[in-house]
Amino acid sequence: MDGYFYFDLKNINVLDKLNNIIRGWKGYIWETNESKSLALKRAVVCDGCEFAEWGLIPQFMDDEVKQIKGLQCAKCSCPLSTLLRSPDSKCEEGKW
Ligand code: SF4
Repeated sequence: MDGYFYFDLKNINVLDKLNNIIRGWKGYIWETNESKSLALKRAVVCDGCEFAEWGLIPQFMDDEVKQIKGLQCAKCSCPLSTLLRSPDSKCEEGKW
C-alpha cells in the first residue's frame, strides 16, 4: 500500500487509552474538586470489588480518598488513584 495514507483504527483505541491514562495522572497530581468528587463516587464501588488489589506502585501513592489508597485494579493494572480520576475511563467490569 505504498503511497496511500493508511489509518489503523486500533491505533485510535491506543491513543484514547493513553489520553485517559494521562488525564488520570493529571487529575491525581493536580487535584481539582471535579477529579476528587469523581474519585470519591467511584471509590465506593471499587472499595467492595474483588478486583481491587494491593499494588506495587500504588503503595507509594498517597491519596485523600482512603478507600483506594495503595490499590490497583487487577483487570487493567491501573492505580485506582489515577484510574478513578480519569473522566472518560470506564470500569472494565462495567461497575461504574
Ligand atoms: S475499576 Fe471496576 S473492576 Fe477495577 S476495582 Fe474498580 S470496580 Fe473493580
